[in-house]
Amino acid sequence: MKYKKTIIGIIFVVIILFVGILLTQPLLIKAIQAKYKSTDHFLVLKKDSRIRYEEPAKKNALVLAEVLTSSKSDVERILNSTFKKPIEVYVCSTQEIFNEYIFLSENVRGAVYWGKVFLSPGAFNRGSLTDLVQHELTHYLFYSHTGEKAHIKDVPLWFREGVAVFVANGGGNYTEDTDIYSVMKSQERKAYLSRETDFWFKSNDPRDAVGKNGTVNWLLYRVGGIFVHFMHDTHPEYFDNLIQRLLSGEKFKLAVQASYNKSIEALLKEFTNYLQAHNKQG
Ligand SMILES: [Zn+2]
Repeated sequence: MKYKKTIIGIIFVVIILFVGILLTQPLLIKAIQAKYKSTDHFLVLKKDSRIRYEEPAKKNALVLAEVLTSSKSDVERILNSTFKKPIEVYVCSTQEIFNEYIFLSENVRGAVYWGKVFLSPGAFNRGSLTDLVQHELTHYLFYSHTGEKAHIKDVPLWFREGVAVFVANGGGNYTEDTDIYSVMKSQERKAYLSRETDFWFKSNDPRDAVGKNGTVNWLLYRVGGIFVHFMHDTHPEYFDNLIQRLLSGEKFKLAVQASYNKSIEALLKEFTNYLQAHNKQG
């Protein structure tokens, strides 16, 4: 009995600390809410059972059905791999509902979260739906091989996004009749060479991918994506090998070293030299 008060006191302090930690981590709360938010009310599209939709978004679900199969095979062809799990795409009826599943951002059009691909109404009225679906399916293909944890932990953010941009651009075809330098906008070259984008190649904070207005920071995506094109174009067979290693769960740095026989830092340096040499040529 003597210790009862002390024990109650300790439990009380622990609860206060726990609540305190939670309250200072709003993202953590949102992440937990998003993970357990049910998708049971989504209806299965008759035409394509991989597509689930909220009733008001049926029209968009039908539009998606037109491009899903070809997008899937494009991703598989470009990455020389297949999906290990069936695809599930959830078409949300409002941006607000989408944001409850994808807690990081406010105006993003699509994302993969806990093994589900989500699309917002913006996917159907801003930009190319096919590009976006290929981008998200690339994330999903990696997820289907390595799972959520390995996918996030072992492949840096810039490469996860960069390879998705690479695929949505059409893979190697993007630079078939030209070179990397000329597909880059001068703003993109400037940003990379001025080292403005250096942090992107080191960041693992998904919030860095989103700008102040809640939309994706396209400059970072483009610069990272173009560097992935560079990695591909210098040695397509090494690149292929790298993708297979990553899909088998190998850690990024080791996989790059094993497939290219050099470090990612050395490859970035090569990219810098390549751009500088072109700049001098004018
Ligand atoms: Zn992405």
